[in-house]
Amino acid sequence: MAATYTPMIQQYLQVKADYQDAFLFFRLGDFYEMFFDDAIKASQELEITLTSREGGTEDRIPMCGVPYHSAPQYIERLVEKGFKVAICEQTEDPRQVKGIVKREVVQLITPGTMMEGRGLNEKENNYIATLSIFDENSYGFGYSDLSTGENQVTILEGEFELVLNELALSGAKEVVIPASLDEALKGKMKERFGATLSIEDNENLNESFSVLLNGLEDTKLTKTISRLFNYLYRTQKRSLDHLQPVTRYEIQQFMKIDYYSKRNLELTETIRSKGKKGSLLWLLDETKTAMGGRLLKHWIDRPLIQKVEILRRQSLVETFMSHYFERQDIREKLTEVYDLERLAGRVAFGNVNARDLIQLKRSLMQIPALKAIIHDLNNEAAKLLAEQLDPCEEVVDILERAIMENPPLSIKEGNIIQDGYHEALDRYRDASRNGKTWIAQLEREEREKTGIKTLKVGYNRVFGYYIEVTKANLHLLKDGQYDRKQTLTNAERFITPDLKEKEALILQAEEKSVELEYELFTEIREFVKGYIPRLQQLAKTVSEIDVLQCFASISEERHYVKPSFSDERIILLKDGRHPVVEKVMKAQEYVPNDCYMDKDREVLLITGPNMSGKSTYMRQIALTAILAQIGCFVPANEATLPIFDQVFTRIGAADDLISGQSTFMVEMLEANNAIENATENSLILFDEIGRGTSTYDGMALAQAIIEYIHNRIGAKTLFSTHYHELTVLEEELKQLKNIHVSAIEQNGKVVFLHKIKEGAADKSYGIHVAQLANLPASLIGRAKEILHAFESQDAPSSGQAPTVETVKIAETTKASADAQLSFFDENPVVKEKATLSSKEKRALDQIKEIDILELTPMQAMNTLYELHKKLKH
Ligand code: ADP
Repeated sequence: MAATYTPMIQQYLQVKADYQDAFLFFRLGDFYEMFFDDAIKASQELEITLTSREGGTEDRIPMCGVPYHSAPQYIERLVEKGFKVAICEQTEDPRQVKGIVKREVVQLITPGTMMEGRGLNEKENNYIATLSIFDENSYGFGYSDLSTGENQVTILEGEFELVLNELALSGAKEVVIPASLDEALKGKMKERFGATLSIEDNENLNESFSVLLNGLEDTKLTKTISRLFNYLYRTQKRSLDHLQPVTRYEIQQFMKIDYYSKRNLELTETIRSKGKKGSLLWLLDETKTAMGGRLLKHWIDRPLIQKVEILRRQSLVETFMSHYFERQDIREKLTEVYDLERLAGRVAFGNVNARDLIQLKRSLMQIPALKAIIHDLNNEAAKLLAEQLDPCEEVVDILERAIMENPPLSIKEGNIIQDGYHEALDRYRDASRNGKTWIAQLEREEREKTGIKTLKVGYNRVFGYYIEVTKANLHLLKDGQYDRKQTLTNAERFITPDLKEKEALILQAEEKSVELEYELFTEIREFVKGYIPRLQQLAKTVSEIDVLQCFASISEERHYVKPSFSDERIILLKDGRHPVVEKVMKAQEYVPNDCYMDKDREVLLITGPNMSGKSTYMRQIALTAILAQIGCFVPANEATLPIFDQVFTRIGAADDLISGQSTFMVEMLEANNAIENATENSLILFDEIGRGTSTYDGMALAQAIIEYIHNRIGAKTLFSTHYHELTVLEEELKQLKNIHVSAIEQNGKVVFLHKIKEGAADKSYGIHVAQLANLPASLIGRAKEILHAFESQDAPSSGQAPTVETVKIAETTKASADAQLSFFDENPVVKEKATLSSKEKRALDQIKEIDILELTPMQAMNTLYELHKKLKH
């Protein structure tokens, strides 16, 4: 019963009612306390002791707390786990009020609104996203980074999948949604991204944000971003002056890479560790500033499709490359530039300290030199960039005059403002310094007067200034010479009226000067606040220069070449390499490969043993295309590429061991998504599609998919397969060509050459790979026998690859050449040879179903034993 709770608990419950979905950190003296369920949950999540207290009712109230000064680390831990924390402070001075102090929530900290701390990786944005639904298949999507002030918004027309893709790209940890959002959609956002969902139903434009929306006429866009702004405003309860004008973007302006493809290509994180290391971003990241690091990720996430802009970036990269020494200078200067965007954010939020301002000053001091170097690079685009570099001299000037070089962290204890900056401050300081000189003088005089050499004048917080005389010397003092103040074991402390008078002056002056310093500091902060838009613009230009110099450095270091772009949709790569594999491997081991595709070679069917390098080859082409379209040079000796509108990568389910949840259905859904959306300007990589089901099924599907792409889409497609039988398709499909990764047999063992060659692989090397995997020799021997038996039974009558399945596939090929295709058509009837007994047929079926790579040696032995038994008896 609420009525019987103590007034404080009642106050707690009242506040808590508005923050049901957050941990309420309730300020009590030097602690933030949590009560009831919050306390129980927090004690588990934070591993802190759960206690209890009287609350006015019979039962004690569960309670746990964290000290005020170490609260940030606990808040961070909770927020990192996806929780929200409401900070409830005392908003009155407890000394001034009787009874219960007023308390209010001053900020709600959520995964998407973290401004500092470990959770905020400096080279990554921390976006909070928002979603509005207008009609079916019409979504407003936007995202902001509260720490940098960036805001983006777009309208997505189509499947909800589009929203999920954008959400994935933004990497937002929190999504602000209308309360009425469909549960299924909520589930998808939570499931796939673990996003924290927050409700905000107000989508009316708050006047204070209208200046950010200039030129954004569309009401859908306004509503979408307003929902987010209203949420931020409601939860942050402080100045959001650093929010930048809202940018409207269209997904059509960029190369589309959906979530699966992005993951498969390991653009910004690897599949296995989900970390940056090993990704394309990791390879490329030679940026020197945090802002540059963030922009690099953004560019990788959204490659360009407008040739003009790609060529502009290219020309800048080329210029940076050809000016080696200037580039080193630029890199040096950039190293000194701090995170201007986040500094600006902290200035607006009011949590900037004097050290931050010194960093700001040092950063700005780099700009004139940077500007001069870039201006003189003899490149028009560079000149334009140089012109955009705004050194904000007035800010440098004021910071240089006002702020001390090594200020303390605290902004409330003085020692921040330079001498000579402010007259009154100087006067106070003089007074205090003079007072101190007077005191030093006093010590000398009194020593002389009394003849006590050890007499000293000291200071402590309780008694202020005093004169100290040791007990042994007390007899040298005249009676009543000083007023006695304190007796110590070995000494007596005295004061004099003069000393106290000076003391008052000094202390007053010090107090005044500290107060004044704080005032001056906030004035300066406000002054800097006026420069936020200019600082943000500067940050943009600096980050662009940073990424471009980074491209130049990487391209030089790794011997990349400038790609040219073909309007005839030609791919020509000489000595192309997979950028990341090459780096990881040591250059001399990597075998470069060529690629050529044009209107007569739209589809390349890649065969070759497992582990020979099929996936690597396909990925290297996609990564090369992406590198080209973000404006970087590419890992090859010569490169011509089309500008691709979309890239799709799909991997057969059996390959996708990592997520552990990928089923054949997912594989097919993904394939379908690619097929539905690809155009002739797209690049499709299908890696072992169809292997997630039984052999016949898989092969039939693979073939049908290839035919569909070949006949109806015409996208540049690389299709790798271990279904050797598919290579006959070259005869039927004019624009399909076989290529293979070569391997040779040496002493009965397979040696991978990693070299791409024209034509189909001459055979499957599955058994050899099994041999490499150290399966027992007797098992390998038996497998070879069985294979041999297959091959001789099914000796080809039409020159096709000699296995049991060939017969069937050849039939499907003919039957379906121009038939309407349906993925799930009935399986073609398999005509088994009449010569086999039913027992043998069953054994054969069983062998066909075996995925040798998936077997442990023990399982293999057991299987072989069973087969053997079946056939013998
Ligand atoms: P597949 O797709 O044919 O099973 P992968 O593309 O996964 O084979 O390649 C297997 C391994 O072979 C890679 O991890 C890599 O170490 C190596 N490899 C692939 N391509 C090359 C190459 N061109 N040069 C050197 N090593 C390579």
